[in-house]
Parts: sequence; C-alpha cells; structure tokens
Amino acid sequence: MKQRLGNFTIVVLVVMTVLVWVVFPPVNNGSENFMRAYAGEVLGSILIVLMSSSLFLSTRPKWAEPFFGGLDKMYLTHRRTSTSAFLLMFVHLLTVPISTTNLRLGNYLAMISFLGIVSIVLPTLAPRIPFLSKLTNSTYEGWKKLHRFIGIFFITGFIHSLTIKGLDAFIAINWVQIFFIIGTASYLYTEVFGRVFKKYLSYAVEAVNHSNGSTTEVVLRAKKDPIPKQHAGQFLFVRFPQDKTLNESHPFTISSAPREDVLRVTIKACGDYTRHLFSHLQAGMDAIVEGAYGMFDYKTGGQKQIWVAGGIGVTPFLSFIRDIDGNLAHDVDFYYTVRHRDEAIFLDELEAAAKQNPRLKVYIRFSSTDGSLTVDEIVKNAGGNISGHYIYMCGPLPMVQAFEKKFLEAQVSAGNVHYEEFNFR
Ligand SMILES: Cc1cc2nc3c(=O)[nH]c(=O)nc-3n(C[C@H](O)[C@H](O)[C@H](O)COP(=O)(O)OP(=O)(O)OC[C@H]3O[C@@H](n4cnc5c(N)ncnc54)[C@H](O)[C@@H]3O)c2cc1C
Repeated sequence: MKQRLGNFTIVVLVVMTVLVWVVFPPVNNGSENFMRAYAGEVLGSILIVLMSSSLFLSTRPKWAEPFFGGLDKMYLTHRRTSTSAFLLMFVHLLTVPISTTNLRLGNYLAMISFLGIVSIVLPTLAPRIPFLSKLTNSTYEGWKKLHRFIGIFFITGFIHSLTIKGLDAFIAINWVQIFFIIGTASYLYTEVFGRVFKKYLSYAVEAVNHSNGSTTEVVLRAKKDPIPKQHAGQFLFVRFPQDKTLNESHPFTISSAPREDVLRVTIKACGDYTRHLFSHLQAGMDAIVEGAYGMFDYKTGGQKQIWVAGGIGVTPFLSFIRDIDGNLAHDVDFYYTVRHRDEAIFLDELEAAAKQNPRLKVYIRFSSTDGSLTVDEIVKNAGGNISGHYIYMCGPLPMVQAFEKKFLEAQVSAGNVHYEEFNFR
C-alpha cells in the first residue's frame, strides 16, 4: 500500500483541483462562452498539477522512493503524468474560447508554450519521424538535453494564464499557483541548484575488467567521500568527466556487496555510451557517483523466493549473492538465462555460492542450446505450487512482462512479483 501512496496522492491532487473549481466556481460574467472558458480553466489547472508532478519527480527525491516503489517506478509515473498533461494540453486548447481578432500577449505566450512543449515531447513519442529525430540525434542524451527546456515552457504557460483575462475565481487560481511554485522550484532545483545541493561523490576507477567480449566490470574507489549508504540490489548514476562521451550520467546497478570497500558496476556494451566505455575506460580515471537509489530488495520478501535474471539483468542478483553473510535466510531458486554460454558472467562465482548455501539453488540456462526458460518449468522445480512464493526479476522488458503474466496465472499474488526496470525513458 505504501508503495502506491505516491501515485494515489497525484490522483487525489487532480480530483481536489476539480473539486476546488466546482466548490468555488468563477463569477459568471454573462458571456456566451462562459461555460467553455470555465471548462478550459479546469483543464488548464489539471494540466499544471500534472506537469508540476512530473517536474517534481524529475528531481529524483530519494525520500519519496518508498511511496512509489523505487526511482524506476517514479520514472514510470513521470512518463504517465507527462503524457497525460501533453494530451490534456490539446483538449485545453480546443476548449478555451480564443478570439482570433483580438490576440493579446497571453495568447502569444500560450502559443510559445504549446509549440515548445510539442517540439520537446513529440520526439519522445515518435522517435522515428526523421524531422523530429534530428532534434535529438536519435540518442537518449540528445533527448535528455532537449527535455531540459521543458520547464521554461511550463513557466511560459503559467505566465500566459496570469496575463490572459481569465475568469474571476480567486480560490481556485490560488490553489493552482501552489503547483506552479512546486513545478518551478523543482525545475530550478533539477537544472540549477541541484548541482550545489545534491551529493555527487568523488571516485576513481581502480580497475577495469572485461568479463567477456561485451561486458565490463568497473571497480570504483572513493577518493575521500564515504561509500554511499545502500542495500544490495540498488543502483547509482555514474559519469567519467575526463572523457567527453563518458561524461554523461548513466544508471547502473551496484553489483558489489554493500560491505565491500569499493563499488563495482558490471556493464553490458549495448549502445554508444556503453560501447565507448568498453573500449575507452581506463584505471585511474575520475568518476562522479550519485546514489544509491532503488527498492529492489529480496529481503523484504517472504521465505520462498524465485529469482529470474535475463542477460545483464543478473547484476542486482550478483549483489544479493555477494551480500550473503553466513547462511541465506530464504529458500531461493535462482534462474539465470542467457542466449550463449560466452554471454554468461561470473558463472563460477554463482556455482560456488550455490555450493556454500544449501538454500540457494542456481539454474543456468543457455537458451540457444537448451531452449527458452519457461514458468511451467520453474513451477515444476518448485514442487508444483508457487502461490506463496515471492518473485524477483530483472532482464529485458518483454521477457519480464511475459514471465509476470505467467506467474500471475500460476496464482502468485501481484504484490509478490517484483522487477527492476532497466529503462528510464
Ligand atoms: C535502474 C537501472 C539499472 C541499470 N543497471 C544496469 C547494469 O547493471 N548493467 C548494465 O549494463 N546496464 C544497466 N542499466 C541499463 C543502462 O543504464 C543502459 O544500458 C545504458 O545507459 C545505455 O546507454 P547507451 O548510450 O550505451 O545505449 P543507448 O542505445 O543510447 O540507450 C539504450 C537505452 O538505455 C537507456 N539510457 C540511455 N542513456 C541513459 C541515461 N543517461 N540515463 C538513463 N537511461 C539511459 C534508454 O532507455 C535508452 O533507450 C540499468 C538501467 C537502469 C534504469
């Protein structure tokens, strides 16, 4: 329940915004367009509440993670509130009566805000349209840079609402102003003040190990800052300022155990940044770390557990296993699936951990030769009934979603199925 409180609060704020407009309606000015203007203002207000929620979530507030179920889930909410606000913007525009003969400053500001937001959001929704993809170079970093401007258009949109001759609704307008302040403060924190207040930790790359032809293990040692407070399975953001390409902050799971005096991340080369890192990162380079974030934690689950890792999704489980101190307190069936044998990493370590911990059973699956792992097989190995089991998964999203569906069909309760999203966009 606690993990849904964040989303629930946003829904309540939207409902309250409508209620404030209904309970404290605007003074009817007798204009023939009064009802359209009224509806338009209610829609505009919801839009501001949703946008300010999005901007607030972009600040990555660590303290709010428990109310959403982790930063990855907060990004999902951010995506949903942004998309809803974006769609609502069109409805707002179509609803409010606009006089084409008597355009004022407020109307021009509305246009600037509308066009600005459309050109920032459309490349996200339709990344393959050639004209739009030019704005972002079709890269995540290009998309992120473009996104930085969204707050400017949010502020422009709000100034539009102040300069336009709106309806006289003192209480409702003051209520909405609270969200404008939250949104603007969040934006300024993310883009300006966060650099001063946020805890960016100074590290050095101690070692760079290539686990196979596409995976790099990076060992990071703190220069002077202490190791960030963390639990096994969390992730951090890291960048390497001495290399132009690697000076982008990317999220990676901490694959070491929290008690180690270094941080280790294990990175699969799959795009521009991670490929460049594979071939260019060197020991001795500086690293800037931010974190730790995330709520993926098997210790919050019950005694019987099933862990499923696909490909590089093994990293949080490496941390879980490395964190075992003495005897594992849960009965775990751990499935690690990769396409080919040479893609698998740390196999010896995983097998050694299984030998040391009778409660940990490790099943390695090479799908190209052994066939794909199925939930039926997992259920069979677990004795035929997994309704009381807790599930932890990390891997490619289609795989995780397909498995989730099958686990639910196998009577696992939805609240017992946990997975880490490796995708923030
Ligand atoms: C919580 C979390 C934990 C992760 N843990 C690991 C891990 O332990 N090992 C590992 O190899 N990978 C991990 N990833 C995935 C890793 O962050 C991406 O593979 C990497 O950032 C891709 O960058 P790229 O430029 O090489 O690829 P691109 O092809 O440019 O990006 C591929 C996708 O990665 C995501 N991405 C790219 N850049 C960023 C960024 N700056 N911030 C956030 N997301 C981005 C986007 O969804 C993008 O569509 C994790 C991701 C998340 C969200």
